[in-house]
Amino acid sequence: MKQFTTLLGAAEFAVTLATGWHFATADERYEKTTLLALAETSDSENPIDGDSFYVVSPSGAIGFCEDGEDIDWLFLSDAAPNEDLPLIYQTAAQVKICTKCGSGVVSGARFCGKCGERLN
Ligand SMILES: [Zn+2]
Repeated sequence: MKQFTTLLGAAEFAVTLATGWHFATADERYEKTTLLALAETSDSENPIDGDSFYVVSPSGAIGFCEDGEDIDWLFLSDAAPNEDLPLIYQTAAQVKICTKCGSGVVSGARFCGKCGERLN
């Protein structure tokens, strides 16, 4: 998922993926121009702080991640109304592989948890 620091940035990306949205907690519907207008207003009236960001799902749904973890989905995409949207933001896991036994080890670990091999 892509991260955006403004709702307008997220909306501009979302309009390349979908043509209609509905608000997650209400019946209001948005199309391209109304979504972009709303995003612009929201950014100027309620700019988000440093730990927060917006995310856009593969189908164009827009979510708000307030603390960098939990995702609040704001706009659901008409392109995939039943999309399975994650409620937690996960950064791509960095997995290293032990050169001796081949098991996955935690990023930053100095020794393999399985065989004890020293890792670079
Ligand atoms: Zn190992």
